Amino acid sequence: MIVIDGSQGEGGGQVLRSSLALSLVTGQPFTIHGIRAGRDKPGLLRQHLTAVQAAAEVGGARVSGAALRSCELTFEPGRPAGGAYHFSVGTAGSATLVLQTVLPALLCADAPTTLRLEGGTHNPWAPPFDFLVQAFLPLINRMGPTVNATLVRPGFYPAGGGRFDVAITPAPALQPIELLDRGAVERVSAVARVAHLPRIIAERELQVVRRKLGLSQDALTVEEVDGSAGPGNILTIAVQSEQLTEVFTGFGERRTPAEAVAENAVQQVRKYLAKPVAAGEFLTDQLLIPLALAGGGAFGTLGLSRHAQTNIAVIRSFLDVVFETERAPTGYIVRTRSG
Ligand code: ATP
Repeated sequence: MIVIDGSQGEGGGQVLRSSLALSLVTGQPFTIHGIRAGRDKPGLLRQHLTAVQAAAEVGGARVSGAALRSCELTFEPGRPAGGAYHFSVGTAGSATLVLQTVLPALLCADAPTTLRLEGGTHNPWAPPFDFLVQAFLPLINRMGPTVNATLVRPGFYPAGGGRFDVAITPAPALQPIELLDRGAVERVSAVARVAHLPRIIAERELQVVRRKLGLSQDALTVEEVDGSAGPGNILTIAVQSEQLTEVFTGFGERRTPAEAVAENAVQQVRKYLAKPVAAGEFLTDQLLIPLALAGGGAFGTLGLSRHAQTNIAVIRSFLDVVFETERAPTGYIVRTRSG
C-alpha cells in the first residue's frame, strides 16, 4: 500500500487529486494522511469529497474515510470503466477539478465515456472551463484520445450550479508530445463575460486589455451570459501561437474594481509573452501527469512552482518516471522519461 503524506510540499488538494488519478490508472491502492494540512480549512471539503466519490465510481474502488473534513483516506481501486457518469459537487466547488481527478483513467479506459459535471465552472484557484477547452484539452487530444467538453450553464462562485458535459473517446496509450517553445504568436484575444451584472464591467476590463496589450477592437468581445444561478464576471485572454493556445484568466470579485481584474490578467499575459515558452504556470501543473503517463515528452515553461514540484513528488510515488528540468536561455525545459 502506497502511503502519501497529504501535508507534503504545498499540502493542498492537488496531492489528493493526483493520488486518486494515479491510483486509478496504475491500480495501486494508497492511504493518505494529513489531507490538505497546509490549508486554512484542512481535510476534505465538498469539492474534494466529490472527487473521491467520482474516482471510486469510475474505478469500482473500496474507500474508507470519505467524509467531509476527513483528513485520512484509504483508496483501493478496481478496474476503471468507461461509461456514462454524473457527478455533482453540490456547491460552487470546482467541477473542473473533479474532471481533473477522473480524466487520466478515462483517457485509456476500455470504452468511451460521457460525463455530466455540475458545480463551479469558473472558480478562482481551479481551471476555468475556457482554459480546459482552449488550452488543456487540445494538447490531450494531440496525445491520442479525443475529448470534447461543452458548457451547458456556467457556475460562478458563490452560487455555483454550473454544468458541463464531456465526451471521451479513449486511446490505447498516451503518446508523448514535445512543446519546447510556442512558435510565433498568431493572435491575442480577450473575452469579458458578465452574468447578472452590468455590461459596463466587461467594457471597462476590455478597455484596460486594449490599452495595455495593444489589441484591436475585433480581438475584444463582451458576452452577457444568461442562465447562471448567480452573478459572475470572468475575463479570459487567449494567446494563440503556432504550437498551442494558452489561456489567462481574471476573476471578478466583489469590491475588486474591473480595472484591477483586467490588470491581473494582463500581467499574467505579459509574463508569458516575455519568454517564448509554451506553458504558463497552470498548464505546467496540468501537463505533468499526462506526460508521466506517456512515459516521455517535454515542454518549455517559465519554471516549476511549488505546486508543480509537489505534484512531481506525488507522481513519483506511483510511477517510475524521472522529470528533468534544464535551464534554457528561454526559460526551462521540463523533460519526462521512464525511470
Ligand atoms: P486546496 O488546496 O484548497 O484544496 P484546490 O483543491 O482547489 O485547493 P490546488 O491544490 O490549489 O487545489 O490546485 C488547483 C488546480 O487548479 C491546479 O491544477 C492549478 O493548475 C489549477 N488552476 C488554478 N488556477 C488556474 C487558472 N487560472 N487557470 C488554469 N488552471 C488553474
